[in-house]
Amino acid sequence: MNLAELTAHEASELLARREISALELTNAVLDQIDRRESTIRAYITVLPEQAREQAREIDRRRAAGESLHPLAGIPTALKDNLSTQGICTTCASRMLENYIPQYNATVVERLRAAGTVILGKTNLDEFAMGSSTEFSAFYPTANPWDPSLVPGGSSGGSAAAVAAGEAIVALGSDTGGSIRLPASFCGLVGLKPTYGRVSRYGLVAFGSSLDQIGPLTRDVTDAALVLSAIAGHDLNDSTSLAWPVPDYRRALIPDVKGLRIGVPQEYFVEGMDPDVARAIRQGVDQLAALGAAVEETSLPNTKYALAAYYIVAPAEASANLARYDGVKYGLRVDGHDVMDMMDKTREAGFGPEVKRRIMIGTYTLSAGYYDAYYLRAQKVRTLIKQDFDQAFKNFDVLAVPTAPTVAFPLGSRIEDPVAMYLTDVCTVTVNAAGLPGLVVPCALIRGLPVGLQLLGAPGSEEILLRTGFAFEQSQDWRTRRFGE
Ligand code: GLN
Repeated sequence: MNLAELTAHEASELLARREISALELTNAVLDQIDRRESTIRAYITVLPEQAREQAREIDRRRAAGESLHPLAGIPTALKDNLSTQGICTTCASRMLENYIPQYNATVVERLRAAGTVILGKTNLDEFAMGSSTEFSAFYPTANPWDPSLVPGGSSGGSAAAVAAGEAIVALGSDTGGSIRLPASFCGLVGLKPTYGRVSRYGLVAFGSSLDQIGPLTRDVTDAALVLSAIAGHDLNDSTSLAWPVPDYRRALIPDVKGLRIGVPQEYFVEGMDPDVARAIRQGVDQLAALGAAVEETSLPNTKYALAAYYIVAPAEASANLARYDGVKYGLRVDGHDVMDMMDKTREAGFGPEVKRRIMIGTYTLSAGYYDAYYLRAQKVRTLIKQDFDQAFKNFDVLAVPTAPTVAFPLGSRIEDPVAMYLTDVCTVTVNAAGLPGLVVPCALIRGLPVGLQLLGAPGSEEILLRTGFAFEQSQDWRTRRFGE
């Protein structure tokens, strides 16, 4: 058995029974990184020595009879936009190439408190802006199912690491689909929690009214485990919710009888790969066969979501990225005066997609255009939220596609921003409305995975996880983990 193939909960049981040690598990995953990383390039930073030391510490504590968290000793990867004290946090940008944070993100503190082993920092689209991980300033990441394809983005490094056996679980961030899209493309479970469910303190900000951190895992149980560890109120993030944090594993009952599931037609967009649409419909039929009451429904404002997102997200990004001025931290390129220094720093520090976002965002926020673009987009957001509020009066869960296609070839969309943005048409809605979304592997199409996306009302993570769990248990295929 290759230990790197285990889920976290499987490994956790073996660790608890002392059939394996955390060091053995960590070494197995580090070996897998050695074997696969030259092809996959999931990581920006790997921390083998630190990981082994953290694993040894867990083994010592277990030997001393301490009762440990189920995630203790589990090798974990972090998207490189999560601040790690003393460890480079680059956001895959030249701007932060040598930036070493003074503090840990709250999620990192929480995972460390649970005893997880931190393997390293994973690749992403620069500042999480993108859908393929090709906008990393360093190198693209390959999809473990087929290295000529993208892993999805922007959390493509985290997804590829988990799918390739280069981590057992990982964290990503999701502003408009960046956890769920790579989950779909890499055959994983990905959860974007309710806005505020998980503290964003220490997540490098992209779109502050949209961003959430969440898990990428091999099954639903692992997603529940990780969410339980990272969720909860945080005084350092005033947008974090004070709701109590349940043990999400207790929600995992393989039963959807009586659950009302709506299937909004608007998500089956024009131009969608018919095989993807068919796979999603079969997934929905499967839920019906398991006893859910499935019904078609309509969310009429869905068609405006993508346009609204691509106004709001760049607007917030342009404000958030103003902090990279060559003065406070990050890259500085000297000039003959302050303005020249800033110009040169930003010219050298930001890649083309980030510059595009800053320009779009600055434009839509500028006097004269604000009302026409930004204000309107915010109003559309309200309409989208109202559609959802209405739908959740009749349904517990909405089942929809995650993306119009399976993973696409590296290089095929980088020259065409609109084609890239269209990848997000099924995912941006929940960020606009602050809802949770769970992606669960649903089918293989031409040998490539497709994820079913389950959406719920704010705070409905338990219902989503239960639905996803029942669905997963009824599937006769499991994620192929190594892509070899
Ligand atoms: N692909 C979307 C974008 O480029 C979403 C990114 C994200 O969720 N971080 O904005």
